Amino acid sequence: MEGALNNIPYITLAELVERFDVILFDSDGVLVSWPSAIPHAPEAIARLNELHKPYFVLTNDASQVAETRAARYAQLGLAIEPDKIISSGMLLKTWFQEQGLEAYRCVVLGTEDSVIYARDAGGQVVPFEEDFDVLVVGDQDGFPFLDTTRTVLTTLFRKLDRGETPRLVVPNPDLYYPERDGFGFASGTVAGMFEAALALRYPDRLDLTFARLGKPHPAMFEEAFRRTHPHTRNMAMIGDTPSTDIRGANNVGITSVLVETGGGLVDLGSLPEGDRPGFRMRGLAV
Ligand SMILES: [Mg+2]
Repeated sequence: MEGALNNIPYITLAELVERFDVILFDSDGVLVSWPSAIPHAPEAIARLNELHKPYFVLTNDASQVAETRAARYAQLGLAIEPDKIISSGMLLKTWFQEQGLEAYRCVVLGTEDSVIYARDAGGQVVPFEEDFDVLVVGDQDGFPFLDTTRTVLTTLFRKLDRGETPRLVVPNPDLYYPERDGFGFASGTVAGMFEAALALRYPDRLDLTFARLGKPHPAMFEEAFRRTHPHTRNMAMIGDTPSTDIRGANNVGITSVLVETGGGLVDLGSLPEGDRPGFRMRGLAV
């Protein structure tokens, strides 16, 4: 166990900047631990801005649109432009296009910003009590999930009993999130509740699952490739969670870097092969 751990070399941000064309940062546990910035993160971002080094922030959190999030970063001394922020909510647009769902009726369980993401994607957002074609489980951040899921589950069952098949999507597949004093359920868990109930009532319907868009799935990384000019895959992803940041980067063939500033307990020796980082990093000191 110790051997596997020792095989993973340490690297610094300065070395990454030298070796890679684009740096990708996870947000929580790497740049911020709400409501504070992670030590050295503001200087690191300032340095990249000064160098005009291409970078993006890849966050599964879909509770805020890019402008809202950039303003919150600014309050913590992180000068990150909105167009450098890629959240799982933004991926709805491509998903709606690919699935041909523009103008379909859509119920969104989540924050006001989650609703904006669905509207930007082309969905016709209706109140949660109404009939719908697409269910978007967005990020909560105070949204009263338990009060709304009962109504939405009833609508889902009625639709399926009538022979209609609603489309299901959860931009952020995370199961829980860290808070200042503990943890909360994230949208992936809410999607899982619906899936469990649907599987029990319609055991033969293997299609009644949610599309999941955020890390470790490739869509967010593909969006970073798309936004880089000239396009390059010579990227390094810095994250604190092996099962999302590291696995996602490894899956798309870019270099993964596990930073030790996050709150997660990581025993590198026990990680499955696909979740092992290419490098380790102590922090973002420049
Ligand atoms: Mg994180």
